[in-house]
Amino acid sequence: MALGEFELIRRFFTDQPVKHPSTMLGVGDDCALLHVDGSQALAITTDTMVEGIHFLPDVDPEALGHKVLAVNLSDLAAMGAEPRWVTLALTLPHCDTTWLQNFAKGFFALAKRYGVELIGGDTTRGPLTITVQALGLTPRNGALWRSGACPGDLIYLTGELGAAGLGLKIRQGRTAIEDRTAIAHLERPEPRVDVGMKLRGLASSCIDVSDGLAADLGHILEASGVGAALDWERLPLPNRVRRYARETGDWRMPLSAGDDYELCFTVPPANRDQLERSLATSGVALALIGRIEPHTGLRLFKDGQSIDLSQDGYQHFSRD
Ligand code: ADP
Ligand code: MG
Repeated sequence: MALGEFELIRRFFTDQPVKHPSTMLGVGDDCALLHVDGSQALAITTDTMVEGIHFLPDVDPEALGHKVLAVNLSDLAAMGAEPRWVTLALTLPHCDTTWLQNFAKGFFALAKRYGVELIGGDTTRGPLTITVQALGLTPRNGALWRSGACPGDLIYLTGELGAAGLGLKIRQGRTAIEDRTAIAHLERPEPRVDVGMKLRGLASSCIDVSDGLAADLGHILEASGVGAALDWERLPLPNRVRRYARETGDWRMPLSAGDDYELCFTVPPANRDQLERSLATSGVALALIGRIEPHTGLRLFKDGQSIDLSQDGYQHFSRD
């Protein structure tokens, strides 16, 4: 029987024989949280990128080195964690030193910017596959979980929506629109680490948008046992994404395409002013896109209609 990615994880990997009291949060969030000692928690996440699935074979290796680290730092950001260490597992079809030099250049340029040290990994031969594990720190009770959203909370999104999705359409030759910024969003996403840390104590829940806003906000809703309404007019769509949606009629693309790596988070109304003040100097745009509601499901208000978005978003294995 075919299973979706999340059903597969739930069915085979959540029910397990060992549970440690020091595991504050296990399977099911952007990172696991471990309380090893003292006032801090260790946040851990891992993400794999496979040629042909997560990146095109002709991708610039320097951009790839950046992206494979960025997507992991993005998961730390979604927990409000400060990045510290990474491991790198490389599976390579052959040893191409020019490729490796450029990959390492992109990887370490981003590592340097966020003060991240590479502490180990693994190197094997095989189809090009790259796995990074990232570790960071949060105050013991200060991490941002997916499960804290409450009815009435405001839903925010950093940056822009759909640019990476448009970049992919361009790279795949599926649109005549030209947009170098969209390609940069796809190939060199910027993890919102500083914003994530500023959200500690202010946001009630947070996730990074890797599989599309509809799917990822859906994870917050499921973990929190609530629903939400989004307002189409408030979505921060870049002009060229609006043009793509208008010309093709594919207005769902920015909501269902992955790879934005923006943060989607919820904020109790009482924290709104403090949050907006705190992020005003971050240099990252902030959009208020909707509200958490008591009844479950994800609804989009567009052109006077309420549209059900519960099925949008990317899942590995969903079409098997
Ligand atoms: P993200 O998009 O934030 O990286 P994923 O959607 O990849 O998260 O994974 C959802 C949750 O399932 C995460 O908590 C992740 O750690 C966990 N997970 C994914 N695959 C496995 C697995 N094979 N075994 C145990 N946990 C897993
Ligand atoms: Mg994530």
